[in-house]
Amino acid sequence: MIKTIIKFFFLVVVTSSSSFLLFSPQPKSFYHSLYISTALSDNVSVSQHLQILTRRPHVAGSEANAEAAAYVLSVFTSCNIKAHIASYGVSLTYPVSRSLSLTRPFPDPPITFSLRQEIYAGDPFADVAGQVIPTFHGYAKSGSVTGPVVYVNYGRVEDYVTLKEMGVNVSGSIVLARYGEIYRGDIVHNAFDAGAIGALIYTDRKDYGGGSGDARWFPDDRWMPPSGVQVGSVYYSIGDPSTPGWASTEGCERLSNEEVEKTGNVPLIPSLPISAQDGHTILRSIKGQVANQDWQGDKDAPIYRIGPGPAVVNLSYKGEYVISTIQNVIGVIVGVEEPDRYVILGNHRDAWTFGAVDPNSGTAALLEVAQRLEKMQKRGWSPRRTILLCNWDAEEYGLIGSTEWVEENREMLASRVVAYLNIDSAVHGAEFHASATPQLDELLKQATQQVRDPDNSSQTIYESWIGSTNSPVIGRLGGKGSDYAPFVQHIGIPAVDMSFGKGFPVYHSMYDDFVWMEKFGDPLFQRHVAVASVWGLVALRLADEEFLPFNYLSYACELQESAKDLEDKVSSRGITLNPLLKSIEELTKVATKINNEKKAINKAKGWASIWKKDHPKVREVNDRLMMAERAFTDPDGLIGRTWYKHLIYGPSKHNNYGSKSFPGIEDAIEEAKNLNTTESWLTVQHEVWRVSRAVRHVSLVLNGELT
Ligand SMILES: [Zn+2]
Repeated sequence: MIKTIIKFFFLVVVTSSSSFLLFSPQPKSFYHSLYISTALSDNVSVSQHLQILTRRPHVAGSEANAEAAAYVLSVFTSCNIKAHIASYGVSLTYPVSRSLSLTRPFPDPPITFSLRQEIYAGDPFADVAGQVIPTFHGYAKSGSVTGPVVYVNYGRVEDYVTLKEMGVNVSGSIVLARYGEIYRGDIVHNAFDAGAIGALIYTDRKDYGGGSGDARWFPDDRWMPPSGVQVGSVYYSIGDPSTPGWASTEGCERLSNEEVEKTGNVPLIPSLPISAQDGHTILRSIKGQVANQDWQGDKDAPIYRIGPGPAVVNLSYKGEYVISTIQNVIGVIVGVEEPDRYVILGNHRDAWTFGAVDPNSGTAALLEVAQRLEKMQKRGWSPRRTILLCNWDAEEYGLIGSTEWVEENREMLASRVVAYLNIDSAVHGAEFHASATPQLDELLKQATQQVRDPDNSSQTIYESWIGSTNSPVIGRLGGKGSDYAPFVQHIGIPAVDMSFGKGFPVYHSMYDDFVWMEKFGDPLFQRHVAVASVWGLVALRLADEEFLPFNYLSYACELQESAKDLEDKVSSRGITLNPLLKSIEELTKVATKINNEKKAINKAKGWASIWKKDHPKVREVNDRLMMAERAFTDPDGLIGRTWYKHLIYGPSKHNNYGSKSFPGIEDAIEEAKNLNTTESWLTVQHEVWRVSRAVRHVSLVLNGELT
């Protein structure tokens, strides 16, 4: 019913006047419904944006990516959004030469691999395929190593434990690991820790190739072709490696390449990514013990053995560090009532290859949001708070564009940003996924209840998202998977990350192109439209509502759950979690109190004051809601990785992609388990105290009274 009314009103608006501005503004909720209506959304223009953005490969620092930045800027400008480019000179690496050869026992001849991804039949991008960056790992160590090969499964810490139990010594060999479970930088790091001199990482058909006997792959099916290679960074940290902790502005202090190596943030052994077919060729010439069943490939794969050898490979890689110019495009829609409060939508633009999924499905969605906001402005809407549309550069190398910008604007952002809403790859396929800091859970649920599922119009995204359960699974933002990390983990800003689908087989290969998206990712571009609806709606509610739609009760619940998980790990060690549990209890009370305060202010205002100025307490309550998340950060940061200030969410030590609750406590537990000394367990107790103090600070901020 509501929808019909909106549509009717829209018709009146567009047919009865040549100037939309003649209409007096409607209530914000009217515009929010309009925003998600079919009247404003456009799947044709969203697909055109994607097509334009992905015409050429556009790795960070390239001319093609500067061109893509100019395109984003021009769309913002054409939408009457004030926009500028924030540039930085950052240290990126590019491949100069690489080679890989395999020596096998007689009579098999040696092989030199081509390391080339093949152009497919009918590839419309064949003419620019030569511009695709040669397969390599960003920030890989240059060098040439020769050694016997050991197969190490996914290259996780536990895989090396298994190898040790099997009596296999990795030291002095080159490991062959498969992609799929942990961050590739950690695969190289774990190999180095085990004593390996080099690392090869291949794409196994079991994880990326469909896994059936039917050998169909892109362009006939969604799966990775046999020559497809997942390129990517192996950097352990985030931000420009030559300016750790400060912004890469012109003429700034900068570490030399030698100093960068000493920071421990780049690998110390060479590595290369390789294809499924090259991985299998090497696996066929590894002998020794047969690997466990869960280490094997799909049913058509050879039997995987562990080695070492007799296969011997020579891996040579030479890369160069180049100070490259990167461009963040920043669009600003100034808020009318609270211009100094920011709601930020962010997505990166740089891609390892064409980037149709990663990340430009998100960029196309960002441009769709910009266009819908323009249409609303023409109909009389303007935001209460400022909305920023940010298009980051050099995310793929290590969240560099966003991190430099956060480092440069740290104080302003920390005192003004209400929330950061990230989308990296907007569409990988069907099914909605989201992560958030918990005070935004409720808002996320409400927004998805208002948008139709693009794959099942009989229900909302929310209904599909929960499936047969009572509540959706909302991930947390402790990992370093995308640009939300500097916002959450460095300065404590509430954030959201979302996408349709989770993971796609041609990830970071040259097959992540417009054809793949059109055939398999989102043929009708309705998922792009839907993600722009949820993204924009969440932003609009944060930008327009009088009270920030934050609920810290969800945070308290979430902390309680995480504390319960911790209990089992420490209870037998004489560690008490009482201070933490007490601080969470206090947070529950204060979160309830501030929710009631909002209700009381609304009641006190009454109907008569609805069009008048804000109640004097509104801004003060909002500031408390906004600043509470900051109090989860500690200026000292996590032990040994002090750039990470957030004590509740941080990256797992052995998998950058993994999110950990209480990362400082978890780190300390791991250390104590290894050392098993009284002192090391006391450090665990100290970390528990530190987190409880942070939680107490949050309660004090929410409470808003000095002690
Ligand atoms: Zn990405």
